[in-house]
Amino acid sequence: MKTDRTKAKGERIFDGVVGASGIAIGPAHVSEAGALQVPEYEIKPDDIASEIGRFEVALRRSQNQLTKLKTKSLALPDAAAEELGYLLDAHLLMLTGSRLVRGVEETIGKKGINAEAAVQMAISEVARGFESLPDAYMAARADDVREVGARLIRNLTDTPFQAFTHLPAGTIIVAEELSPADAALIDPQIVAGFATVLGGKESHTAIMARSFGLPAIFGVAGLLGGVKSGETVIVDGAAGRIIVDPSQETLKDYESRRKVLERERRQLDRLIDLPAETGDGVTIGLQTNLELPREVDGALTVGAAGIGLLRTEFMFMNRDTPPGEDEQYEVLAGLVAAMGGRPITVRTLDVGGEKLAYSLGEQLGDPVNPALGLRAIRLSLKLVKLFETQLAAILRASAHGPVRILLPMIAGTGEVRQTREILTRVIKRLKRRGSPIGDPVPPLGVMIEVPGAALAADALAAHVDFFAIGTNDLTMYTLAIDRADEQVAHLYNPLHPGVLRLIQFAVQAGQRAGIPVSVCGEVAGDPRYTALLLGLGVRDLSMAAPCLPRIKQRIRQIDMAAATARAEIIMSQADSGRIATLLDDFNG
Ligand code: PEP
Ligand code: MG
Repeated sequence: MKTDRTKAKGERIFDGVVGASGIAIGPAHVSEAGALQVPEYEIKPDDIASEIGRFEVALRRSQNQLTKLKTKSLALPDAAAEELGYLLDAHLLMLTGSRLVRGVEETIGKKGINAEAAVQMAISEVARGFESLPDAYMAARADDVREVGARLIRNLTDTPFQAFTHLPAGTIIVAEELSPADAALIDPQIVAGFATVLGGKESHTAIMARSFGLPAIFGVAGLLGGVKSGETVIVDGAAGRIIVDPSQETLKDYESRRKVLERERRQLDRLIDLPAETGDGVTIGLQTNLELPREVDGALTVGAAGIGLLRTEFMFMNRDTPPGEDEQYEVLAGLVAAMGGRPITVRTLDVGGEKLAYSLGEQLGDPVNPALGLRAIRLSLKLVKLFETQLAAILRASAHGPVRILLPMIAGTGEVRQTREILTRVIKRLKRRGSPIGDPVPPLGVMIEVPGAALAADALAAHVDFFAIGTNDLTMYTLAIDRADEQVAHLYNPLHPGVLRLIQFAVQAGQRAGIPVSVCGEVAGDPRYTALLLGLGVRDLSMAAPCLPRIKQRIRQIDMAAATARAEIIMSQADSGRIATLLDDFNG
């Protein structure tokens, strides 16, 4: 977004919400778009209508992005909000029944070319028109036209908005938005933290930031116009604050705070060889969640007992076509080997919703409501070949060590039954082919993250070998709060009595059936919730690796009998504010 507010000098403060804690200080990299690839090809007359449809989807997506940016800009001081508001309105206007939009649709129809090429042609024409105007202000609008065109093309091609190459070590990335696929391109050896204008603290991108151990702030209004690449930036992952061009005094203050955090981390490292045992001797299983294979070293360093949740989406991101069986097998077998006999829980593909994978773009369609649409297990059961390929790769990897198969977004026993049929077929095929698989075959478990699944946990427990409670989605679906939407982020609350009852019911159903139950949502990695989860009967937790030492420290302070008694009191409460107070008092 081009505005003149970057002319400001001296310390500037921007507030947002904490996505991942910690303190980072470094040069800003204001993320411009990655190199735009504009594919050009001819289309058949029969495909014109669907090509125009594709353009309309990109148009709607672009309008939504601009509307969200506009809402966000309202949080800025008056003058800044007004200035940015005008600019965003101008961009929106260009995308609403304008000459540009009509031009693209006509060009697709008349020239028989793809939407990206048509956008490029229409943009060049309109921009040239502006540039030829004698009025300097109007001539400068050509830049806006090009910016709008680039947004459209990126939304058509699903090009990541970011380019993260050639950055100096310790860089702080500043961007409009980072998708999980963008975040997967971040190298934590180079990037020290990031901040975005859009996005919520429960989003998948925030989860990745916590996994990488990178401080991150989301929903920071006015950020893009307020910082230039190269300026020094502080990411304050305690207060949810970005400080640009800090004074010497501020810098010194944050440097000493960072040192304190480092000292604390070193102290926690000393716990690695101690057992995760409560004060009264109850052992808790601590495992880690994995977003990307490179995090496996981190899991081993913190002494994880296994991988409690391997999110496999990374294999499908930032590529044009899905990976084949051999490629998936290589990656999984590598992880199994690296874990040296500790179990790995591989979750099958959980794309859809906010976790879009470009390689499946066409097949995901344009859902009316992505969070309630064709995602996770529903998509796998529809694209059976894709599912079979992934299951075959997991089964083959299980020949090398303990593996469990975990199904996302299960709503009922029907989906488990269908999966078992497919699994049986794949096992037979692999045996016929002579491909070794684990013996016995991996246990099959389900995520409990849909309220219906939690309520039907008794029935589900009879059909599966384990439960993994996904409190992120369970909270989102129980409270009808989009976890990736910063506008409702303040309403997202795992301490709502409705959410806690569902967790408790699922834990008890698992205990009645004698199957293991773990919690792998973000609450598992937050020491605030540990006593409550233990008190509700949870004995296995899986979390981002950097969170594990602090959770172990918390477990060692807890007396299980006291935590159970406090959980009982909490479960008799109706108000989430009261529940929070009771929990925080217990935590001391
Ligand atoms: C969850 O929903 O709690 C979960 C662990 O899965 P994800 O965050 O990948 O949706
Ligand atoms: Mg989930």
